[in-house]
Amino acid sequence: MSDKKAINSAMVVGGGVAGMQAALDIANQGYKVYLVEKSPTIGGRMAQLDKTFPTLDCSACILTPRLSEVSRHPNIELLAYADLEEVTGTVGDFLVTVIKRSRYVDEEKCAACGDCTEVCPVEVPNEFDRGLGIRKAIYTPFPQATPNIYTIDMENCIRCKRCVSECQRDAIDLEMQDERLEFRVGAIVIATGYEMFDVSRYPRLGYARIPDVIDALEYERLINAAGPTQGHLIRLSDGKIPKSIGFIQCVGARDVAKGVPYCSRVCCMYGIKNAVMAKEHYPDAEVNIYYADIRAFGKGFEEFYEMARTRFGVNFFRGRVAEVTRTQEGRLAVKVEDTLSAKPMEIEHDLVVLSPGIVPPQDLLRLSEKLGVSVRNDGYIDVSHHYFGPVDTRIPGVFVCGCADGPKDIPDSVTAGSAAAMKATIILSHGGQSS
Ligand SMILES: Cc1cc2nc3c(=O)[nH]c(=O)nc-3n(C[C@H](O)[C@H](O)[C@H](O)COP(=O)(O)OP(=O)(O)OC[C@H]3O[C@@H](n4cnc5c(N)ncnc54)[C@H](O)[C@@H]3O)c2cc1C
Repeated sequence: MSDKKAINSAMVVGGGVAGMQAALDIANQGYKVYLVEKSPTIGGRMAQLDKTFPTLDCSACILTPRLSEVSRHPNIELLAYADLEEVTGTVGDFLVTVIKRSRYVDEEKCAACGDCTEVCPVEVPNEFDRGLGIRKAIYTPFPQATPNIYTIDMENCIRCKRCVSECQRDAIDLEMQDERLEFRVGAIVIATGYEMFDVSRYPRLGYARIPDVIDALEYERLINAAGPTQGHLIRLSDGKIPKSIGFIQCVGARDVAKGVPYCSRVCCMYGIKNAVMAKEHYPDAEVNIYYADIRAFGKGFEEFYEMARTRFGVNFFRGRVAEVTRTQEGRLAVKVEDTLSAKPMEIEHDLVVLSPGIVPPQDLLRLSEKLGVSVRNDGYIDVSHHYFGPVDTRIPGVFVCGCADGPKDIPDSVTAGSAAAMKATIILSHGGQSS
């Protein structure tokens, strides 16, 4: 251990469930935490989910108290809508530069009343709803967004200034500049999560060509009561209720040729969850899952799978889907070989949901270069030891958690967040290596 005392604070990059857990655990030990999040709100992907496997808890109901806990914590400085610019220094004393992008809305003055958004004439697809709903040019991604501050998307703003005149608190400043912040931290936690595999790389499955072929995150937004259809599970082409739904698993995952070679670990379970939710909505609907293998390895997962089959009547077909085509009647024909019976089949559905694998964020390589940490061949952050250093990067004082080092479900992401926080606070309390 070094004699020199470490700087008494840490930085967490990424405010999903893993980063929030790491930030809370460090902050609850009395250290200051800078939580840097690139989007306008923390919460990560969990904020977009409807229910969670394997308990079918309402995702927003369990996440929202966490968002408040983070935003109200006296030891956490939340830097949302911000980008990590540069990191210099070494373990115990890193100098960090962050660019806080301008929201064109004064964070101190904004009361999130929503008057500005009411008068905004510009409507654009809402990224939070995967483009299925709309938002205004001045917006918050979702009602519980944290911090609850409006943001102007300048790419789409037409500078009509209606929001400026409407705001009673004078919070809007169209000339506001980005802010450059510098601070020192003793340890850093990377919690940058994942992105969805781009399913349009499988054109034969119909995505982007057939409106009633959607991906699983679009499905989560469609079925969500706060989503673009107020939770009505309908076909996008004609607004009709689907009487038959097919879920296609492993799109892009475990596919050396066109996708990624690894298993994304969460798709089997979220696919089963989505099938169960379809049956909850429409008990008489036919719901099929086309899978390569079912990997139900976590606590309560196998029981959840069994429940889907026996209690909810979800049908499972083992086989990779070759093609989805649109019939003359506007239905979707799924061509698949059932590998258990070796029979080629063609089954018609009204709605098809693709369950994609997950991949590292596109900008992770750039971030890793700024931090000096290495990434593996699969694009995720590398750890120092497969068994004994699962949250340590090869750079002392820089840790990783959640999906930043590989796919994980929520419980495993949170566990890793706590582990990374523990490693970080060992440094903050001693000023040297964590192990
Ligand atoms: C369709 C679908 C359904 C799912 N359903 C379930 C379920 O029911 N139960 C379950 O246990 N798991 C489920 N999962 C998995 C779950 O989403 C993940 O386990 C969880 O979101 C991982 O949390 P995370 O914090 O690691 O990453 P994320 O949730 O991805 O959060 C990462 C955060 O980091 C931010 N970020 C990224 N890059 C940067 C950067 N350079 N600088 C600053 N910030 C950055 C992002 O904006 C984001 O806020 C599902 C996954 C999918 C795809």
